[in-house]
Amino acid sequence: MYCKNCGKEIDNNAYVCPYCGFKTVETKPETNSMAIAGLVCAFFIPLLGLIFGCIGLQKSKELGGEGRGMSIAAIVISVVWMVLAVLIIIITVIMTAAAMSAMTAPAAILAL
Ligand SMILES: [Zn+2]
Repeated sequence: MYCKNCGKEIDNNAYVCPYCGFKTVETKPETNSMAIAGLVCAFFIPLLGLIFGCIGLQKSKELGGEGRGMSIAAIVISVVWMVLAVLIIIITVIMTAAAMSAMTAPAAILAL
């Protein structure tokens, strides 16, 4: 593409013209990659999703709100997943303990 200010040919991906420093009109607002990473990680690795979500939220302030909703979603999903994971672990432990005691002490269960 060509610079709209000085007319020199510049790289298609250039954010600013290297000759005159003019900002290219085609430049999109910077995407909040941390918010995206947080949202993706939230489903698979909630702890990472939470960390990236917090960084993304911080970064969204610098980017004028870009990725704010995604960061919050990443944090919420991460927290929900972690709470669910803790609940599943607790339930599994209780079930295992109950199964173990049922196997090791059937007389005690029968006595009840
Ligand atoms: Zn230029």
